[in-house]
Amino acid sequence: MELSSALAEVLGDASRVSTGDSLLEQHAGDLTYHPPHRPDVVVSPTSTDEVARVLALADRERVPVVASGARTSLEGHVIPVQGGIALDLTGLDRILAVDALDLSATVEAGVTRLRLNERLGRDGLVFPVDPGADATLGGMAATNASGTTTVRYGGMRAHVLALQVVLASGRVVRTGSRARKSSAGYDLTSLFIGSEGTLGVITELTLRVHGIREHVVAVRAAFAELDAACAGAVALVGAGVSVERLELLDAPTLRAVNAYKGTSYDEAPSLFFELAGTEAGVDGDLAASRELLEGCHAFQVEHDPTARHRLWEARHHVLFALVAASPGREHMSTDVCVPIFRLPEALRHARRAIDERDLDAAIVAHAGDGNYHVLFMLDPTDPSELERARSLNDEIVEWALAHGGTCTGEHGIGLGKIAYLEREHGDLVPLMRGVKRLLDPHGILNPGKVLPNP
Ligand SMILES: Cc1cc2nc3c(=O)[nH]c(=O)nc-3n(C[C@H](O)[C@H](O)[C@H](O)COP(=O)(O)OP(=O)(O)OC[C@H]3O[C@@H](n4cnc5c(N)ncnc54)[C@H](O)[C@@H]3O)c2cc1C
Repeated sequence: MELSSALAEVLGDASRVSTGDSLLEQHAGDLTYHPPHRPDVVVSPTSTDEVARVLALADRERVPVVASGARTSLEGHVIPVQGGIALDLTGLDRILAVDALDLSATVEAGVTRLRLNERLGRDGLVFPVDPGADATLGGMAATNASGTTTVRYGGMRAHVLALQVVLASGRVVRTGSRARKSSAGYDLTSLFIGSEGTLGVITELTLRVHGIREHVVAVRAAFAELDAACAGAVALVGAGVSVERLELLDAPTLRAVNAYKGTSYDEAPSLFFELAGTEAGVDGDLAASRELLEGCHAFQVEHDPTARHRLWEARHHVLFALVAASPGREHMSTDVCVPIFRLPEALRHARRAIDERDLDAAIVAHAGDGNYHVLFMLDPTDPSELERARSLNDEIVEWALAHGGTCTGEHGIGLGKIAYLEREHGDLVPLMRGVKRLLDPHGILNPGKVLPNP
């Protein structure tokens, strides 16, 4: 029987199995420079049981399956490079439970973080992991996402208590529990987090949530030099100021943001940060921050929620601002993470390497974590530009690895960083391959991603 008819039979609903041109095209590419490749069919399940039936069929027929959520990942993760089934999980969209006493929430994998936060807000709660984009919680777990609040709360791994996962064979397993800690055997929850759809399909997550802070201020501090901004971030973290977010934007980034958002921020290296807690605690931290950042030439403090929102919206729209500033170009980003005290040196090195290659690039950093992105807007018709950007990426990764860092702080490996995974953990790749074989013996789950070809 033809694949799409077999899938329609398995789901009992042909309308959720599509081979229509526009849907295949929609599931062919991502937001980046990685070339698209169409799946053979797009399947949209609405329950764990349906996912299990689809995977059992795919495993039997040896058909590749590429799970996807909001498709906001940045390294070609969701591109079905070997065709097969694009498994769209956005239909698993129920918030199953919110427990304010337990500070936990249970959701299906296709629920987005903003939808969850809308619901949590009614109970004075928040889920803080914030990758900027309105990603699905399944996709965020699958990439071990983090973001602006990681400096305070940690990323996805710190927030997933339990998972329901469908293995390649169609078997459904549950990992973890609602307990805050456990020493019960191997930590399989952590294994699935960051596995990028290559070890199993996550259908349900139980997450830690937090109470909304009583008092919050956002601050923008502008500096004459990138180095000074960077040193300021290291000083804030070192002094133990309880920053909720701590982001660095360089001058080219702020130029693009001003043009895109109609704002008038100083077009100079800047820290955007947030302090939160009790009023007395925040006032003390604010005074300490002013003192630690005395070299800055602007120190704008925002108490009003709308003004704070405006500041963070500007930060979250950086990528869109850069895209708008470079029509016809495509986006590529580095994602190394270094020990925080190395950050000033790392950014000096990156800026020098950008200038040496005469590339047009902006730098933003989750400065409190030592994680930074060099963002290039590439002309897809100019192979020499792509080559220069790749060589810069290589140099930045080499520098990070030589100084105790990692090739990817949050975006993951996908297609684009496979060579860097080998460079960073080459000795562990055979072990990782063994884990993959055990969980997905026929290699149907997101083939061609994360691990290098044997
Ligand atoms: C403007 C912008 C800013 C960003 N900033 C950040 C940032 O600060 N931090 C950060 O971490 N990321 C950032 N990202 C990247 C992206 O948002 C994250 O990687 C996010 O976690 C992806 O979630 P998604 O729902 O879009 O997943 P998708 O892109 O749909 O999928 C990502 C990967 O997860 C797999 N997958 C998806 N759902 C499941 C599932 N249910 N089970 C198993 N595997 C699954 C896919 O196969 C794929 O390998 C940014 C992206 C954009 C566009």
